Amino acid sequence: MNQVNKLQTLNIVCPQCGNKQLRTAQWLTEHQLIECHCGTSTHTSDLEQLANQAVNELD
Ligand SMILES: [Zn+2]
Repeated sequence: MNQVNKLQTLNIVCPQCGNKQLRTAQWLTEHQLIECHCGTSTHTSDLEQLANQAVNELD
């Protein structure tokens, strides 16, 4: 597993509507859920998965 930089900003993509929200890894470790305007809440417990997803989008 890759170490996640706490100051790294990650695009959290809503699985329901595809809306992207920018949060730092630090923020994600301090919150359990990220809420989208469509009403979908994404668990941030899978931070590494979210981080990997965000990193992959940069390629
Ligand atoms: Zn959404």
